[in-house]
Amino acid sequence: MKIAEEAVETAEKLGCPTGRWAIHPVSGAKVPVWAANFVLMGYGTGAVMAVPAHDQRDWEFAGKYHQDIRQVVFPADGSRWDITQGAFVDQGMLRDSGQFDGLDSQQACDAIADYLVSHGKGKRQVNYRLRDWGVSRQRYWGAPIPIINCPACGSVPVPDDELPVVLPTDVGFEGTGSPLKNMPELYQAECPRCGGKAERETDTFDTFMESSWYYARYTCKDNDKAMLDGRAAYWLPVDQYIGGIEHAILHLLYARFFHRLMRDVGLVEGDEPFTNLLTQGMVLKDGAKMSKSKGNTVDPQALIDKYGADTVRLFTMFASPPDQSLEWSDSGVEGAYRFLKRLWRLVAAHVHQGTVVPLVVDHLNSGQRDLRRQVHETITKVSDDIGRRYTFNTAIAAVMELINALSKFDDRSEQGRAVMHEGYETAVILLTPIVPHICTRLWQALGHQEQVIDVVWPSADADALRKDTVEIVVQVNGKLRDRITVPTNADRSEILATATGSPKVQHYIEGTGIKKSIIVPGKLINIVIAEKDQ
Ligand SMILES: [Zn+2]
Repeated sequence: MKIAEEAVETAEKLGCPTGRWAIHPVSGAKVPVWAANFVLMGYGTGAVMAVPAHDQRDWEFAGKYHQDIRQVVFPADGSRWDITQGAFVDQGMLRDSGQFDGLDSQQACDAIADYLVSHGKGKRQVNYRLRDWGVSRQRYWGAPIPIINCPACGSVPVPDDELPVVLPTDVGFEGTGSPLKNMPELYQAECPRCGGKAERETDTFDTFMESSWYYARYTCKDNDKAMLDGRAAYWLPVDQYIGGIEHAILHLLYARFFHRLMRDVGLVEGDEPFTNLLTQGMVLKDGAKMSKSKGNTVDPQALIDKYGADTVRLFTMFASPPDQSLEWSDSGVEGAYRFLKRLWRLVAAHVHQGTVVPLVVDHLNSGQRDLRRQVHETITKVSDDIGRRYTFNTAIAAVMELINALSKFDDRSEQGRAVMHEGYETAVILLTPIVPHICTRLWQALGHQEQVIDVVWPSADADALRKDTVEIVVQVNGKLRDRITVPTNADRSEILATATGSPKVQHYIEGTGIKKSIIVPGKLINIVIAEKDQ
């Protein structure tokens, strides 16, 4: 009887001692040899060294048969692991391992392999855990498998000039199996090779067959011959792949196989299909994954009807970064709604105060320059959060902080209002990808005819980012003694005067002569004095 490998892994673990012993190749210790039912014959040689402390299946086996469980890998952060509760399977640091003590797991793998090779006790070998992949499915919905099964010739490909095989659309579903099996007019065929009576394959492909290469086909979907017109080479590899965790292993692995196959036959260039992967998190409700079977789903439509799409978008993007799971919260939705209402009121109040004169950056006072610096720091942060890090939540938080600062700014002078205007315009542009509807209206309210989605994304003004003052370190004879704040454009004598005026610095220099001072602009001043007699 053939037992599926999955069953072998999960079946109750059984074993019996052989009465024989093996010698540990490094320590020389005697190790008992057991026959067991959970070792996969197809993986490696079928003979394995068990590591009960660091493999859960070995741990269960050793526990059942009262074998030693000796922990040799420990948490790298120094925390304790209770080995009586389960195997420690993470990477960590080695202890109780002789000459390998203190190495981390990866270093230890290399060092132990080197040891075995150099002592003639082993060699490096990569074992693949891949299994054969059955690509056929007994269902109607799928791409047809273009094969004709002939009793004499075996599996014969459908000739090129008869491709593609197109499935009929007038089929009757009976709820079990593929309806194609009940359609002799479809499956009765002539063998392309011997002309004898044969049957067309009615199985269809697993959907993985298509999802493994669609990204390449999408680049040139209207070319019905092949992908050789240069467009796949132009577009690929995919810059950013976004998918759920359930696709992170098999689908992406298959896609790489297909890509290399297509590369080898000259359909695409390059070795890899995707440059970056973002694995999105799940939406949780009361700590559990939302699912239809659990009945704990939230219908966004009801919230959209109540609050509008912008509120729902803002909440979902603010609640967590996209690669983390998101805990659904009705109060979070309320908070998003309040923020948008507040933004609306603030812009309306600002516009209500009348027209704004053009900003003249050279005429700004220090309070106005501080606010303008925050506007441009927000541009820098949000551009990076959205464009590179995909942390939409921190982008939103930065705009919220900017809007707080704008709401507290009470300078109603002409240039004060001009800076506020730049601030509100910037906030609206930066929020447009998140809450496009309200931003479209706010942009009009701020006096623009054009659509906000047609506006060029802002870039930070380097002058605005420059600070008026800078903190520098004061050293006396190379030793840190204080930190002082000086105007960014202070000259040497001003910096020296401020430094020597510091009480902490005076303690070290009084009664001595200053021999010289060394200034690194924007960073430090080192005052060199004659050493005091101690
Ligand atoms: Zn045949």
